[in-house]
Amino acid sequence: MNEGVTPHVRSVSRQASFRYALRGVGQLVLTQTNARIHAFAAAGVIMAAWWLRVSTVEWGVLFLAIGLVLCAEGLNTAIEFVVDLASPQWHALARDAKDVAAGAVLLASLAAAATLRAAHVKKVLLFTGFVNTAPGGIRAAALAFAEATYAYTTTLSKGKPRSLKHLVVAQPGAAAIETELAQASGVLSGIELAKEWANRPANHATPSMLADAAQKLDKLKHMRVDVLGPKEVAELGMGAFMAVAQGSHEPLRFIVIRYNGGSKHQAPVALVGKGITFDTGGISIKPAPEMDEMKFDMGGAASVLGAMQAIGELQPPVNVVAVIPSCENMPDGRAIKPGDVVTSMSGQTIEILNTDAEGRLILCDALTYVAKLKPSVVIDVATLTGACVIALGHVRTGLFSASAQLAEQLMSAGDSAQDPCWRMPLDDEYGEGLKSNFADMANVAGRPGGAVSAAKFLQKFVGELNWAHLDIAGTAWKSGAGKGSTGRPVGLLVQFVLDEAARLSASAKSGGKAPKAASAAK
Ligand SMILES: [Zn+2]
Repeated sequence: MNEGVTPHVRSVSRQASFRYALRGVGQLVLTQTNARIHAFAAAGVIMAAWWLRVSTVEWGVLFLAIGLVLCAEGLNTAIEFVVDLASPQWHALARDAKDVAAGAVLLASLAAAATLRAAHVKKVLLFTGFVNTAPGGIRAAALAFAEATYAYTTTLSKGKPRSLKHLVVAQPGAAAIETELAQASGVLSGIELAKEWANRPANHATPSMLADAAQKLDKLKHMRVDVLGPKEVAELGMGAFMAVAQGSHEPLRFIVIRYNGGSKHQAPVALVGKGITFDTGGISIKPAPEMDEMKFDMGGAASVLGAMQAIGELQPPVNVVAVIPSCENMPDGRAIKPGDVVTSMSGQTIEILNTDAEGRLILCDALTYVAKLKPSVVIDVATLTGACVIALGHVRTGLFSASAQLAEQLMSAGDSAQDPCWRMPLDDEYGEGLKSNFADMANVAGRPGGAVSAAKFLQKFVGELNWAHLDIAGTAWKSGAGKGSTGRPVGLLVQFVLDEAARLSASAKSGGKAPKAASAAK
């Protein structure tokens, strides 16, 4: 899979190890060790450790010393912790779940990584035994180690950054996992960028700050970032977006990120992320409990930003355009009121019955904007409805699409990235409640099927586009003691784009000399 992806090898050390440095916040470096000697060395350590438990201490210490010396030789460094995927306990995990072997590796790695967090370990050697892991297994493991050792520090006076700095993978046939590690490295970088921005409190992540973060992607190859302000957005006629923003003193931002990795004539994949940096509900104000979690209402924007970071690092041969409408939703003397009617960029008028259903208002104008770029596919990502949390909980993202093929592609990308989604219905009857006596449509249709009627609202702005909507209200962040962003669905989005790049190059190969047919992406 993903033949189109060029491994992003930043430097090759003299030990024929490949090193992938991450530009993300965490600076976790994934290293792959090719030489069989490392695996033997690791085995030595494991044998020694085992011996310590079953035989005399003297023998154990001797073996341990030999193992450590071998490892230190092989890897030019001291190994502080060895994770043994060959141990019976983990093998049992993998055996029980043969068809989801990558998931088993992920579970095992999470278990190991949880102990690492307390241990302040700087380097981990992931030893897979003398067998190759299932496809996706190493990527899943790398992401699991990163997940378990992630540390948010930005607004802590004595924040402790993650102690784990290196993850070294030792397995025979290491060349086979080179692409996997490169992908893990890129995805990880994207996930951690998404987490950073989603976790920041709203006063440390205003629309302007989010736009500044997006501007930093500009230095990645094939990447161009444009940021529009209130004046430009008014000129474009984005009446629905402006209506939401008008209650806040923070100026809105409309962020456009273009990645041109494909040919000039190739229609882009478009990603649209909801960027409400704080959602009070507006005049239809939310209740106080857990309102702080509404800083996560830009989870869609954060994940799109993260996906673009990953794409910029992985450089797949495909064109991608990301659009992020960003503003606050505040109650104010100037704020939009229930019953107000606004004109969207599409020309359709909207009666705003509930000012807390603001995500769809900023997204509808972004979708109209994106349609003008003639994309091959449009995926919008939004923490859109509480109803989706009730429907699917915190496990799967809600997926809505009129296209069975696109839905299938997104489901499969989610499964292989361990970032799953689930297809929801889009029958026209669900849109009945959006009728209004005073505008072309209302912005809400009552509580029953609320996630679906929100999707039906968005569908009124996509015309014939090959479109999907991802409702991440249940999956973008966790509440309670472990409160924080999950970085989802960066993994799913990046996998979809990589798959799309592979599909494009496959169809270009089979289609002869004309790789620029935009319809090939459909
Ligand atoms: Zn809201």
